[in-house]
Amino acid sequence: MRSVYLDNNATTRVDPEVVQAMLPFFTDQFANPSSGHNFGASASAAIMTARRQLQALIGAEFEHEIVFTSGGTESDNSAILSALELMPDRTQIVTSAVEHPAVLTLCAHLEKTRGIKVHRIPVDRHGRLDLRTYRATLTPHVALVSIMWANNETGTIFPVADLANLAKEVGAFFHTDAVQAVGKLPMNLKSSAIDMLSLSGHKLHGPKGIGALWVKRGVRFYPMIKGGHQERDRRAGTENTAGIVGLGKAAELALSFMEDENGRVRSLRDRLEKGLLQRIPDAFVTGDQQKRLPNTSNIAFGQVEGDGLLLLLDRYGIACSSGSACTSDSPEPSHVLTAMNIPHISTKGVVRFSLSRDNCDEDIDHVLDVLPGIVSSLRDGSSFRPKPAKRRGPLGFFKPTGTDGNP
Ligand SMILES: *Cc1c(COP(=O)(O)O)cnc(C)c1O
Repeated sequence: MRSVYLDNNATTRVDPEVVQAMLPFFTDQFANPSSGHNFGASASAAIMTARRQLQALIGAEFEHEIVFTSGGTESDNSAILSALELMPDRTQIVTSAVEHPAVLTLCAHLEKTRGIKVHRIPVDRHGRLDLRTYRATLTPHVALVSIMWANNETGTIFPVADLANLAKEVGAFFHTDAVQAVGKLPMNLKSSAIDMLSLSGHKLHGPKGIGALWVKRGVRFYPMIKGGHQERDRRAGTENTAGIVGLGKAAELALSFMEDENGRVRSLRDRLEKGLLQRIPDAFVTGDQQKRLPNTSNIAFGQVEGDGLLLLLDRYGIACSSGSACTSDSPEPSHVLTAMNIPHISTKGVVRFSLSRDNCDEDIDHVLDVLPGIVSSLRDGSSFRPKPAKRRGPLGFFKPTGTDGNP
């Protein structure tokens, strides 16, 4: 049976070229990059190359603006804590109601333990930020604004460049969680008012456990992790050389695939979305359909349980997610869909399809063959029997696994 991976906002496949680039750093090139000898110097040079590869991807002005971290979560945490540390007189944070838990959980903790006031800017039913409320909450009490570049569940893109300009007017730091945007959207940070940006390796075909925080030159930064002098005193701990090299390679590849992402991947996504909406009555797309990541489609299928939907899709080799992977264990509806307050929507029957450059036309055909039958069988309580197998070339030949025609 065909297996179709459409859960790339949860994580991506490590590109084989990334693996190749990393391998020497587990064997011959094991030296500590901070060591004075030649072995160390060559590891250190590899890290410098990775810095430049990331710099190019996000359009940063200086390679030393990149601080390597253990991933998106650490980058988010360290940006927020740095701002609070450096502005002890300011006791407010502005964020959005639809941030990743890496931001929201820390903010809730700070609210509880340090009496920080957290403004969570609401969104409308299309997932767009309420700009009036945003402007109104910006005062000289705000230490930091942290608003994501693109939402991981709906793909909605926020106008972070404009939001950063407004934050500057009150002297607040502006941080953006760009984990879902880096590698998918062109960026030119050197000409923006953004101070700090988080990114993560495993969301762009790099390894897990490595990421970066970009800190614009001249922007003050206070380290969360203290110890040695690595990363120019901004992140202590012996560098994860292999991970950093892998992230650098992933950044280089992402830049070279950017057109593919915004052309071929986008049109695969659009074909999937149009095809499903045509074949399945009462289904609709959530989030801003104009300002949206090219790879993401979050679709609400009314009158069905999302869990049953995902289970049946999984049996047909299709991997996607209900809302965010970080919340799929809990029975509560996703905080993103709740914040959007869409009328007449059961937040249960919502499926997130997230594509990548690894997907092809046959993947989309497979989903379009299988999903409409699954939804209608779940809706009317009958057991799902797929249509007779259709021949679509060698890979598209689709056969149910069970002997009775049911999976
Ligand atoms: C995945 C993700 C994170 C967390 O990144 P990790 O590297 O897994 O810690 C943070 N923010 C967003 C928007 C994400 O999608």
